[in-house]
Amino acid sequence: MTGTDNSRLCTAEKRNICIECGLCCDGTLFQKAIIQSTDDPAFLKEMAVESFSEGGKRYFRLPCRGQKYKLCALYNDERRYKICKAFKCRLLRQYAAGEIPYEAAIAVIKEALALGLRVKEFLGRLKAAGVSSEGFTPSLLRDLKLNGKLEDLSFRRSYSKQIMDCFMFTELLKRSFYEIPGKAAECAK
Ligand code: SF4
Ligand code: SF4
Repeated sequence: MTGTDNSRLCTAEKRNICIECGLCCDGTLFQKAIIQSTDDPAFLKEMAVESFSEGGKRYFRLPCRGQKYKLCALYNDERRYKICKAFKCRLLRQYAAGEIPYEAAIAVIKEALALGLRVKEFLGRLKAAGVSSEGFTPSLLRDLKLNGKLEDLSFRRSYSKQIMDCFMFTELLKRSFYEIPGKAAECAK
């Protein structure tokens, strides 16, 4: 998350990759984020957070209202959600551990952002055409499978490039960002 705590990911010798990203705040990776019992109720009230419960846990919805462009506007607020201070995606963990250099991590982020944009555009076109979807980009492929569109030859011919983008996007998110590959859409930070 852009909001990701600079202090925990950006040592003096490491540049912050999250300020180039924001995919964990903007609704791309997750649709919801956990509210912890230690989160400040006054802060939640101030943020006008519409929380909801699921499986005994409380969540707020993403995209987060605290995100401005790719940055977290709440970054300096001590009361910021606890999950935001704790969360590290797979890429950030790899970068922090020195397993991937800055330039390579940024290249992955740029690729994900570019693919994500194209998939969102595709989603918009499908919505306009009345093809149902949950509106969550990583689950678009699953939706297309479920509603039989991937078996539909004429649909596949019309949107072959976009379908390929969906595959590549889903695989990239699984490979580089989610902690549990294959559990993409179910994860919540
Ligand atoms: S998805 Fe990862 S790299 Fe991107 S902002 Fe979140 S923690 Fe940082
Ligand atoms: S408060 Fe919102 S924008 Fe900031 S890190 Fe958390 S989810 Fe991201």
